[in-house]
Amino acid sequence: MSEQTMKARALLEALPKTKLGFFPTPFHKLEQLSAQLGVELYIKRDDMTGASLFGGNKIRKLEYLIGDAVAKQCEYVFTFGATQSNHAMQTAWACRKCGLKPILYLVAVVKPDESDVRANLLLDRILGAEVHIVEPEEGESEAEAEDRSVVLARAQMAKLEAAGHRCYEVPMGGASDVGSVGFIDGYVELCEQLEAAGMKADYVFHGTGTGGTMAGLQAGRKLMNAETEIISINVSHKDEGYPARTADLANRSLGLIGADERKVDAGSDIHTDLNYYLPGYEIPNEAASEAIRLLARTEGLFVDPVYTGKAFAGMLDYIRSGKVPLGSTVVFWHTGGATALFAEQEILGDLIAK
Ligand SMILES: *Cc1c(COP(=O)(O)O)cnc(C)c1O
Repeated sequence: MSEQTMKARALLEALPKTKLGFFPTPFHKLEQLSAQLGVELYIKRDDMTGASLFGGNKIRKLEYLIGDAVAKQCEYVFTFGATQSNHAMQTAWACRKCGLKPILYLVAVVKPDESDVRANLLLDRILGAEVHIVEPEEGESEAEAEDRSVVLARAQMAKLEAAGHRCYEVPMGGASDVGSVGFIDGYVELCEQLEAAGMKADYVFHGTGTGGTMAGLQAGRKLMNAETEIISINVSHKDEGYPARTADLANRSLGLIGADERKVDAGSDIHTDLNYYLPGYEIPNEAASEAIRLLARTEGLFVDPVYTGKAFAGMLDYIRSGKVPLGSTVVFWHTGGATALFAEQEILGDLIAK
């Protein structure tokens, strides 16, 4: 291990952490696709973090978030997301492993059919999480319904606290300074694997939603002084303030581990791309469907229609259009999400027609 990775590991040890997943996650080359595309394409397998077959990127954040909840002797953990939220399911799972009680406030972006409950919502129910479904009202946007779900949850939290129960609030996606430390940890892990293989990565691609993963990766990159460019493919609509908010989150995470002198800059470090998520979050598109089929049929790997399929489609476009030069070493960070392949048809899209 290099001196730099040792220093980074020592800083990360300052925070409480609960062991939840299987780390390091595998890192390997995609041989067939590399040959087809003319780049050295590698994959970081955070689809294999644990949670049975249903791992994903939230487990890294939850190691620190649940670690914090346990250190604070909390009994209930509240979190938020869509009804098919990977984050909510992984949070419920993490709670069960640690003897905490999960309470989920889920916005019905896609309205679940209660007689045919699928995918993450089915797993939430098997896990016995307390599930509150918040249906957007007439004229209410998704964002407004999300805000309302937080108001409802906090009212319940206040009641529980008044009755002497300690509650822990995890924001949507686990995107807090504590949660993003999990991806500083993840970035250091990738550096260790690159070091061991005697490699450097030119690019890391991943899908970005709440921004917690991106914040952690960017913070990790600063901490490690890496020259790798991180390209974050948006999976949902974001306003212009998103890069600045995420840079701020990254810097607060660096502050938590005592690396305040490192700063992520929204302008020069962050590279997001809104060109691949349309028509919208949880609404499929053909480029993502093509990416799902291509990866399955060349490498036997599965990505999903909501996050990793769109991120992979974005990366393919960067490579095919020459924005990523031929011969580059490219890492795709597989953030999980496989359960979406078993979700409602309207989320899935047209996967097998071709
Ligand atoms: C949550 C999630 C993301 C996005 O991560 P953020 O930290 O919310 O930006 C990407 N891929 C999958 C599969 C996810 O579940």
